[in-house]
Amino acid sequence: MKECPICKKGKRIIVDDILYELGTKKLLLKGERCTFCKEEFFGDAEHEKLYKLRQEQNVWEGSIKLHRKLSRSGRGTVLRIPTDIEQTMHLKGTESVIISQVGKRKLLIEIT
Ligand SMILES: [Zn+2]
Repeated sequence: MKECPICKKGKRIIVDDILYELGTKKLLLKGERCTFCKEEFFGDAEHEKLYKLRQEQNVWEGSIKLHRKLSRSGRGTVLRIPTDIEQTMHLKGTESVIISQVGKRKLLIEIT
């Protein structure tokens, strides 16, 4: 088992129930999940599969949905951007964002 590169506390265990929403499709993917922070990791094969599916259906970033948990740090609530979205959007982690509340239970995050 590999150490989680995100939290460095948990171990990555193999799972086959990573919920991934692509447009109206719900997929369960194989990959690894951290036992501590629950971050999910896909293998290259899954990335490839997703890339093909997105191309076929012509759905892109706007419709990727990944389920994540918020966490607490000393100064507030933390949301980690899933690696898959990070890669797709080529995020460096130094960008500024605008966070808008767009409903009772919905946030919109815009990269500026
Ligand atoms: Zn972790």
